[in-house]
Amino acid sequence: MRNEILNLLASQPGKYISGEAISQSLKITRAAVWKQIQALRESGYEIEAQTKSGYRLVKTPFSLEEWVLKRSLTTKTLGREIHCFGELSSTNDYAKVLIHQGVEDGAVVLARRQTSGRGRMQRVWESPEGGIWMTVILKPHLSLADAAKLTLSTGVALTHVCRELYGLDVQIKWPNDLVYQGKKIAGILGEVVGEWNAVQTLILGVGINANLEPKDLSPDIPATTLKELLGHPINLNDLVIAFLKSLEIEIKSLTEGDIEGLRARWLAYAAGIDKEVQVEQAGQGIKGILKGISSSGELILEVKGQEHLFSSGDVKLRSSEGYI
Ligand code: ATP
Repeated sequence: MRNEILNLLASQPGKYISGEAISQSLKITRAAVWKQIQALRESGYEIEAQTKSGYRLVKTPFSLEEWVLKRSLTTKTLGREIHCFGELSSTNDYAKVLIHQGVEDGAVVLARRQTSGRGRMQRVWESPEGGIWMTVILKPHLSLADAAKLTLSTGVALTHVCRELYGLDVQIKWPNDLVYQGKKIAGILGEVVGEWNAVQTLILGVGINANLEPKDLSPDIPATTLKELLGHPINLNDLVIAFLKSLEIEIKSLTEGDIEGLRARWLAYAAGIDKEVQVEQAGQGIKGILKGISSSGELILEVKGQEHLFSSGDVKLRSSEGYI
């Protein structure tokens, strides 16, 4: 019902539609129309009401709204099936349930908050209201090795969009974080679901500190948010739409085999290249110069003139100068 009212209001952009017309079209009473309009307003839709003319949709909300997303998507596959929730334990977990039930390639799960979001190695990912907590389900036509690069593609797509939409000099911290001047702004977690050969499904979890206040996150986490950096909240739906579009382009390019293109774009956005960093692995710290990534996505660290490769597993990247 809610979506039908929105569809009616949106069918005549900028114009008023009478309560009578809505009530007739949807076969509900005028009082029920009014109730629905009130509920929409409470969800952040700006709807003008004029006694003689009726209702007019003025503005859609900044918060995640399935109706807004579906209406504005410009992608071919990503987000064509969309599941948007107020709260989930974790969008990755819910995606796994959907995969079990059968789901389209490109389906997207979104939650306004997560109660047990996770980062790498089951580390806690704090996910309060105001952020974008999302999982993209993919059934890509890629080898397992190339599919693993989709986390790099995701980082490139999200960085590109943050720069384009907000003019922020966001960078990628290998392997899966987006940072702004050393503070984490988003995290990406890729997981293969089931046995690759049998299922060929991959999920990409993406968490973005969008409209959070610094006080919404634990003070010991070196994090920042788009709202803090920009000084105002952003339209979460616009960001999701632009990101899915950009990710679709990256996936197409990877599927067509342009691995060098991906590597070049990743390097252009990478934090700390040619700087001294420390790689922490199994409790050991290895200092060296960050040289970039190999064509299979491993980190290249130059230690005493020799190049060493690290795969993402439980490797942490640190720097004393704060550029990562
Ligand atoms: P590190 O960030 O310490 O190098 P990592 O890259 O492996 O580790 P992830 O596993 O991707 O980190 O993410 C989990 C970590 O991110 C947590 O241990 C916590 O420090 C931090 N974190 C948790 N929630 C958020 C958030 N909303 N924004 C930024 N950082 C977060």
